[in-house]
Amino acid sequence: MMTHSFAPKIRPDHLDRLAQVYVRQSTMIQVRENTASGARQYDLAGRASELGWPLERIQVIDQDQGHSGASSAGRDGFQHLVAQVGLGRTGAVLSLEASRLARSCSDWYRLIEICALTNTLVIDEDGVYDPTLYSDRLLLGFLGTMSEAELHLIRSRLLGGKLKKASDGQLRFRPPTGLVYDLERRIVFDPDEQVQQAVRLVFDLFDQSPSALAVVKHFADHHLQFPTRLWGGIQHGQVIWRPLSNGRVLDILHNPEYGGAYVYGRTKTRLACLPGEEPRVKGRTRRVRPEDWPFLIPGHHPGYITWDQFQRNQQRLDDNRTLPDQDRRGALREGLALLQGIVRCGRCGRRMSVRYLNRSLIPSYECNSYHTHFAGKTCQSIRGDGVDAAVARALLEAMRPAQLEVSMAAFDQIAAQARQLDRQWQLTLERARYEAELARRRFVAVEPENRLVARTLEREWNERLAEIECVQRDETLRPQLASRLVDPQERSRVLALAQDLSKVWHAPTTTQTSRKQLLGYLIKDVTLCRGETLIQVAIRWQTEACTMLEVPRPKRSYEVRRTDPVVLAKIKVLALDHTDSQIAALLDQEGFRSGTGNRFSRNIVAQLRYSYSIVSGCPEAPAACA
Ligand SMILES: [Zn+2]
Repeated sequence: MMTHSFAPKIRPDHLDRLAQVYVRQSTMIQVRENTASGARQYDLAGRASELGWPLERIQVIDQDQGHSGASSAGRDGFQHLVAQVGLGRTGAVLSLEASRLARSCSDWYRLIEICALTNTLVIDEDGVYDPTLYSDRLLLGFLGTMSEAELHLIRSRLLGGKLKKASDGQLRFRPPTGLVYDLERRIVFDPDEQVQQAVRLVFDLFDQSPSALAVVKHFADHHLQFPTRLWGGIQHGQVIWRPLSNGRVLDILHNPEYGGAYVYGRTKTRLACLPGEEPRVKGRTRRVRPEDWPFLIPGHHPGYITWDQFQRNQQRLDDNRTLPDQDRRGALREGLALLQGIVRCGRCGRRMSVRYLNRSLIPSYECNSYHTHFAGKTCQSIRGDGVDAAVARALLEAMRPAQLEVSMAAFDQIAAQARQLDRQWQLTLERARYEAELARRRFVAVEPENRLVARTLEREWNERLAEIECVQRDETLRPQLASRLVDPQERSRVLALAQDLSKVWHAPTTTQTSRKQLLGYLIKDVTLCRGETLIQVAIRWQTEACTMLEVPRPKRSYEVRRTDPVVLAKIKVLALDHTDSQIAALLDQEGFRSGTGNRFSRNIVAQLRYSYSIVSGCPEAPAACA
């Protein structure tokens, strides 16, 4: 009956185009449980028919089932609808409560605007709207705005309920290992004594030791393990024991629940994404600083430590952090270590990290992940400057034009081999086809009465056909030749580039970051192994080829400063009948220098005699030894 009052808005040019019924539900749960609403939505097809659209021009779009309407991103059906309307193929868009079309305003306005431009009607259970009419447009826009406001309200109501519960300390979430909920839903100590003991040990050890890592070390030294009580799932409540890691200890020490406090809002998750960004499914979780925790109730439940102690621990952890912060200065000079990120330990295979030696610019590659996480020993550390230089040399060497000519000549050989292989495949295929043809002829030639023979021959024919297929399939699986470098033009381009590489590499304007980038293009990783006198460097190129190098191991600092043995021998001899000043003068005349590169003085000679226990036959008494 209402149809009549709206009928004037529906004109033949609307009816000539499609009536598109847009069906959507917010979540999969709604899809499953809200079938009544689903039925109502599909019923809109009936309404379109009532309003005069012929059945063949009524389309139902329901690709959005299970997507939320908060944004059109990730909703194919809605985008499809917008496209159809934009193309002017749609006479009317039907949806349950027109405002449900798109819950977010921007999507909604966009659709209405396009509808207005293409003269498309919007129809819901209550009415027919013509977006070209100002009043209708206002109404539609208003609905859209209302809908967005409603969404906002629902969200804040949900969150509000949660916050209310949290402010009372009633909102339950997973307690940390060592604490559990009892039957009255109160947080109490874990009834398992062993679990309790392990947690207490962590806090006691941290009290007595300088750092969290020392706690890890104690656990590792005594082969102790730490429990995790599983939460949720089939194994809910079970305890598993694992070695304690540094990250775990920090988690425990930073967790206010061990201090008997109830905290809500220690982390914040941001789901929203910027336009153009891929919609996130899981969101980004960040830690909230303690002073910004929205709800904190100290003394909420029994704690392993007091709240004061918890706060003291935080202070200590903060103080300790100055250390890694200093270390992090490396990040500022990031880029100095050429092999950062691609260097591996030749002893244990772990990734090596970079540290800068005593505030110098000299990098040191260290295999210390075992140390960092489980308080084990540092596996090995290797001074990086020599290694970096050697790898850079190897890189430039490999990219030297002459070297490249050779590799490209090798490409010709590979290409020739590939052509040969091609020919071989062709022959195999031809042979298989020929055999199949023979089999077919034999089958055709046999008398139909001779069924037994015919069956055998048919099977044979089938087998031959299968063989052809097999050969063809194998051929497609054959690795394809990298044809790029076979192309002469491409080749000369690469050569020209290589010509300049050395220049580019050494240019002062080239940043270390670009060098590293270039290195990454060509080198997959570099494995280092420190020997007695040499460092073994294995470069794995992106092509999986390997280059082995040996770099002399740099002298340790005390080795560098050590005085030349020749000088010591001379001092030993001279000391018999010379004063220290005389010895210094003689050594200086002969051009000798001290371990630190200085000219010899009386003091240095005296110091050396003292260090190497050389007795002077002529103590410093100028009068006695003139
Ligand atoms: Zn290692």
